[in-house]
Amino acid sequence: MTPCAGPLCTRPAVAHGLCQSHRRQELAGKALRPLRPRTGAPTVALGVRVPQEVARWLATLGVPTTAARALLVAAWEWETKGVNLQAAAWSRPR
Ligand SMILES: [Zn+2]
Repeated sequence: MTPCAGPLCTRPAVAHGLCQSHRRQELAGKALRPLRPRTGAPTVALGVRVPQEVARWLATLGVPTTAARALLVAAWEWETKGVNLQAAAWSRPR
């Protein structure tokens, strides 16, 4: 696969070294411009590493690492939304 020669473009080239959208810009006689993202919201790639000892401890409880990862991501989302995790834990009814 040859990558598109257009600015900031990661799509494969299909004609004249350009992807479909950049080829369309070229055919329209316009200066090549970066393409808008396909969706409105930006995508954030997030890597979460569950420490080995935590994964081993969770395994003894029968909790898979994927669940631990989802929990860590949820905790991170709460933190970024300003939710105080310790306060939330203390206010939980027992
Ligand atoms: Zn392109």
